[in-house]
Amino acid sequence: MPISCPEGPQRCAECAECVRQRLLHRPGIRSVVIHPNGSQARITLDYDTTLIALSELERDIRRNGGCFSPDWGHAVIPVEGMISSQSEQLIETVLRRIPGVMATASHASRLVRVEFDRRRCAVPEIIARLNELGYPVRPDSAKRFRSPGISAGVLEAHDGERGRRMIAVPRPSLVVRLLKWLAATPELALPLLGGLFLLLAFLIHSSNGSNWLRGAFLVFSYLCCSRYTGMDTLRSLRHMQFNIDVLMFIAAGGAISLGRHEEGALLLMLFGVGTAGENLAMDRARRAIHALAELAPETATVRDADGRERVVHVADLAIGDQVVIRPFDRMPADGEVISGASAVDQSPITGESMPVEKTVGLPLYAGTINGNGAMVMKVVRAAGETKLAKIIKLVEEAQTTKSPTQVLTDQVERFYVPLVFISTACLIVLPITLADGAWSVWFYRAMAFLTAASPCALAIGTPAAVLSGIARAARGGVLIKGGVHLENLGRVRAIAFDKTGTLTRGRAEVTNVTPIGSHSIEEILGLAAAVEQESTHPLAAAITAEAKARGCRVSVARDVQQTPGIGVTGVLSPGVYAGCSDPPDINVRALRVAVGRITPEHIARSPELKLAAERMEADGKTVVVVSVDLAPIGAIALADHPRERVREVLDELRRLGVRRTVMLTGDNARVAAAIAKQIGADEYFAELLPEDKVDRLRDLERRFGRTAMVGDGINDAPALATATVGIAMGGAGTDVALETADVALMADALEKLPEAIGLSRFSRRIILQNLCIALGVIAIMAPTAALGGATLGVAVVAHEGSTVLVVLNALRLLLYKPKPI
Ligand code: ADP
Ligand code: MG
Repeated sequence: MPISCPEGPQRCAECAECVRQRLLHRPGIRSVVIHPNGSQARITLDYDTTLIALSELERDIRRNGGCFSPDWGHAVIPVEGMISSQSEQLIETVLRRIPGVMATASHASRLVRVEFDRRRCAVPEIIARLNELGYPVRPDSAKRFRSPGISAGVLEAHDGERGRRMIAVPRPSLVVRLLKWLAATPELALPLLGGLFLLLAFLIHSSNGSNWLRGAFLVFSYLCCSRYTGMDTLRSLRHMQFNIDVLMFIAAGGAISLGRHEEGALLLMLFGVGTAGENLAMDRARRAIHALAELAPETATVRDADGRERVVHVADLAIGDQVVIRPFDRMPADGEVISGASAVDQSPITGESMPVEKTVGLPLYAGTINGNGAMVMKVVRAAGETKLAKIIKLVEEAQTTKSPTQVLTDQVERFYVPLVFISTACLIVLPITLADGAWSVWFYRAMAFLTAASPCALAIGTPAAVLSGIARAARGGVLIKGGVHLENLGRVRAIAFDKTGTLTRGRAEVTNVTPIGSHSIEEILGLAAAVEQESTHPLAAAITAEAKARGCRVSVARDVQQTPGIGVTGVLSPGVYAGCSDPPDINVRALRVAVGRITPEHIARSPELKLAAERMEADGKTVVVVSVDLAPIGAIALADHPRERVREVLDELRRLGVRRTVMLTGDNARVAAAIAKQIGADEYFAELLPEDKVDRLRDLERRFGRTAMVGDGINDAPALATATVGIAMGGAGTDVALETADVALMADALEKLPEAIGLSRFSRRIILQNLCIALGVIAIMAPTAALGGATLGVAVVAHEGSTVLVVLNALRLLLYKPKPI
């Protein structure tokens, strides 16, 4: 795929190498070759599409300074009709036959993720192929590809809910409800009906009734039971795919051909009921994500310039519209308060349990719930680009990636299924040819063996857990962008934290301003604020606020440049000098103002700076120097306090098995020591530039194994990309945090970290349990069946039972309750 670099050929070669190094570090990337060509470069990536989504790679390349040419597109398509994980392979194989398409299907989430070369094909072609295959795009989302808003089905669902609430209908009796439910779930109802026919056939048989009637009931039973599973199997066979479904039908056919008609029907029924049960259970996990989408209301009340109010569809909201928010309303869009105040429950997005006070100027997010105040908000983002829409998109994409365990089980299956076929064949042929065994006995045993040995539970156990884990995390305000990250997060041994804005509140306050030479405090602050007002760094906000509070006149600097980990510089034009006193010499020429960390040059130029800085730093304060044309004119000390309960959070992390907590900071060593002591971090590294943080992380990985990096994403993107798992905080507030990390904590609260790690560890435990259940049942039942110790019925019950059991086990993740901190 081609990428281009905005900075021209010279930089392109350098940055291409840098992109290559970063990409190589990601899990799932096998090789990266860059072919530079002027200011464009082509990049050939060999990567595992099941582990990483193209959009994630695109983000990676973009955050390393490159940009994608628009020839590659990607889409996540929700489909119907995927009733077993067997369909994954079928869809992937068939879609990959379209030139220029890479596809990953996920039965667990019923989503197909495609990445394609726009010059060679387009989404409609892919959708047409899916339709042809018998996996139509889910109608609720068909519109999504046309309108930018949240999927239409979601809106309909919302409508339905509202309708139910308004019309009070007497509750029907349990039987009626059960029948209605069954009618709405034919994939379960039909096999059950098939079971009823089977029972009738059995009764007729045992009372020596009409053979003709018995046969008819049996045929009905076969038809009902295999209506769904049979169609799926036929589809696989048509595309020459031999999988577990095919195995089951061979077993049933085998039983019937041996004259064990009832047993064959029983097998088909249990297979149908088991598959349906497994799907219904999976639906619970899928709905957990849909529930997120249902948060945003369908309509909004817009107040026009003339004060009149009208109700519009959220998709028709324009940026800048004024929307009336009444008490207890849900926010229809992302916006900013322009009048009124209220406490807003942001838990749907951030997972924070406490409502957040909102006043004029503060952001509001679609889907959050207003408290008892009334407000007017100005829309700042289009309906399709709200935080909520972005979260849903990221979560859906995450659910289509496979976790390392799943990749492993998939690989095992590839060898295992043919092995089962061969063993079954041996079981039929060998005893008969070598030991004169009876054909019917051994064929029957072989069929029971085949059923017991089918790895259905193995195939579904891991994806079900990953799906539930990611869904549960999203509901708690933690966005995990793929199964890989979910599994890695649960195995993290060391965690590195950025200091400013992560371990500390990132809301620094100016405590002292020490002038050097004859400059006044106002002068220093005024000059500093002129450049800092352009910076997003937490220290910048504090300095700008202090200058305003003291009434300094702050002018506008040009050519402002922020160097991560160092500081910010800018140029003030002649005549615009903004200090409160007006020294004539400064005001006649352009000034180069710099605010940032203390360097040896600063100290060489004014030795008194050293003493002043050391004194303040020993108290844990950050000291920055303001200089004009390289000459220091003053030092500003800022205090930024550790977040509340950081100590408890670190303790909880240790309890969860994290062996090392490390603080990384660009700040001075004295400040770092003071803060590390206050919060109880195991280790700290100070005076690091962003690239030094990368080296430290590599070192930690060598010493402890899997390492996570927690930052705010603003100036630690390289470190986040290097760590095994990059975790960004404050995803609701800044887009950078959402985009750069593998895991985003939507709330700006560190307490979510142990929760996320706890959940990941729990997910890993569930995955392991599921593997044990699946393999255990096979290990016990397959030999037993082969030796004639278990009938076909028992083998089917064990097989289907273990499949449903692993899915139910995975659903426990949805109920995960974190330990309160
Ligand atoms: P941390 O690693 O603690 O998050 P940073 O890497 O963001 O810190 O910054 C490191 C140091 O660089 C700060 O302590 C400060 O001295 C200086 N610095 C960076 N950006 C700015 C800025 N905008 N204004 C003043 N100082 C800055
Ligand atoms: Mg920082």
